[in-house]
Amino acid sequence: MLKSTGIPTVADLAEVLPTEERLAKGPVAIIECFQRIPCNPCATACRQDAIRPFADINDRPQIDWDQCNGCALCVANCPGLAIFVVDMTYSETEALLKLPYELLPLPQPGEVVTALNRAGEPVGKGRVIRVQNPPTFERTAIVHLAVPRELAQEVRNIMVEGETDGTR
Ligand code: SF4
Ligand code: SF4
Repeated sequence: MLKSTGIPTVADLAEVLPTEERLAKGPVAIIECFQRIPCNPCATACRQDAIRPFADINDRPQIDWDQCNGCALCVANCPGLAIFVVDMTYSETEALLKLPYELLPLPQPGEVVTALNRAGEPVGKGRVIRVQNPPTFERTAIVHLAVPRELAQEVRNIMVEGETDGTR
């Protein structure tokens, strides 16, 4: 039950995951935003018009995956940390994820971190490829993380050694 646990069910995810055919074409955003809330920066941030304009500010975002190029601007602009980019074309053995990350310290390229699932449970290891943290992203960095392909739809967060919530 998403409402009581905050963790989407298989049925919830089936609504928002791209087809295997689309995933095989390259990076694409996955919007795991399941509640009707007054929020739309994902749509206004997208320069590809891949996220359709909201008729009502409370609408849930609707994405046209064929328009999406996986740039991750929406990832950095989502206050709910609810958007992730998945690239299944990264390599034969690994997928590349672009994850929002707001804790400190930021991981460094080359660092191996603990990969967490949607429940915050460790499910394996990921390798940090790149960290984007320009001033325009404010406090939401984007961590590019290589993970085993079979974990691409499991991993949605990371744990970095020595992390804090940024207030200390
Ligand atoms: S990843 Fe880029 S192109 Fe795709 S929906 Fe987000 S902002 Fe738009
Ligand atoms: S910005 Fe994030 S939380 Fe707000 S509507 Fe878009 S996906 Fe949902």
